[in-house]
Amino acid sequence: MIRFEGVVKRYPGAASAAVASLDLTVEEGTTCALIGPSGCGKSTTLRMVNRLVEPDAGRVLVGGRDVAGIDPVTLRRGIGYVLQGVGLFPHRSVGRNVAAVPALLGWKRARILERVDAMLDLVGLDPALYRDRRPSELSGGQRQRVGVARALAADPPILLMDEPFGAVDPVARDRLQDEIGAILRNLRKTVILVTHDIGEAMRMGDRVALMRDGHLVQADTPEQLLAAP
Ligand code: ADP
Ligand code: ADP
Repeated sequence: MIRFEGVVKRYPGAASAAVASLDLTVEEGTTCALIGPSGCGKSTTLRMVNRLVEPDAGRVLVGGRDVAGIDPVTLRRGIGYVLQGVGLFPHRSVGRNVAAVPALLGWKRARILERVDAMLDLVGLDPALYRDRRPSELSGGQRQRVGVARALAADPPILLMDEPFGAVDPVARDRLQDEIGAILRNLRKTVILVTHDIGEAMRMGDRVALMRDGHLVQADTPEQLLAAP
């Protein structure tokens, strides 16, 4: 479970707070889609979970613990992170990219190789065809699949996704959203998804949280949002 309690973040020199007194709970095993116009504070909110950004006030709790008291390296072991156009290592094979975190954690080679293939399978890439390719040899959608496989490789309970499919063509994007959404639901991951695409938020979110100017405007299930007058 992830909880924001009265969280405020103001960047130095900014006229107003990027995130102003945010209260939000993401229940375990659910996906919360954060949506709103560019600059409304979505990424800042997300990055306070893995301590890439530190709040000025309030608390961010992960599994009931204030992240301020957890060493960032330890914290990030339990939190997968997927970004737009993902920083895959360009000179490394797909397999080595997916293996990155397990390798850092010191897993045995046989276990890593097995895990890499299982993760590629999971995201719909045939390991025999893709494990030895370079990221540059893949389509945008395939690269994002590798990004998800990499983020899930060490089985973190939490996944943070920041515009994960922003660079993917619209046709591939719909399928990716459905497929990756189903995978995350099956695995019961706790997910925060940042997007400005309402379709993506509705497809992938168990709850959709609307932000504007650093404030949370509304947080509802997709069904409630559709039913709203
Ligand atoms: P969103 O993800 O909704 O586009 P952000 O959280 O990235 O919004 O940004 C919120 C506000 O904070 C914007 O006004 C943005 O310009 C500002 N901002 C974001 N990151 C920084 C930073 N590292 N330094 C200064 N200002 C920032
Ligand atoms: P090299 O270090 O020259 O890549 P290795 O014997 O380590 O040689 O790797 C041989 C093959 O196995 C390579 O194709 C590489 O992509 C793959 N491989 C090696 N280590 C891993 C790993 N941890 N995860 C996935 N694939 C790996």
